[in-house]
Amino acid sequence: MECIFCSIAAKKLPATMVFEDEALIAFQDIHPKAAVHLLIVPKVHRSSLAETTLEDTELLGQMLTRARELAEKQGIAERGYKVVINTGKDGGQIIPHLHLHLLGGEPIHGAV
Ligand code: AMP
Ligand code: ZN
Repeated sequence: MECIFCSIAAKKLPATMVFEDEALIAFQDIHPKAAVHLLIVPKVHRSSLAETTLEDTELLGQMLTRARELAEKQGIAERGYKVVINTGKDGGQIIPHLHLHLLGGEPIHGAV
């Protein structure tokens, strides 16, 4: 079965895209848990944070820096926001392609 986020990155599946560069895409979560809920996703497939190595350091840094930029663009930076990377079964990861949740626009309680 094809990876859902690889398919979105390849434009084979639709998503409400808010950012794209050579390394990353960002789009709206289909089941938003907050007023602003974006997913920041590397184009290259890594099944989770657990699969990354030191060679992914730049990519991981880009994910965080783009989260900060997107928070500013979405107008949620001043009040604050949450970034989350669910990892593996106990971490609540459903989609087996590394992604960062950016949540804000209202107080964020609990996990995603
Ligand atoms: P996680 O539990 O960290 O694996 O979260 C996966 C997230 O992906 C969930 O918040 C889902 O709502 C979201 N999601 C699943 N399929 C899609 C999709 N096709 N487009 C946008 N978001 C999706
Ligand atoms: Zn993938």
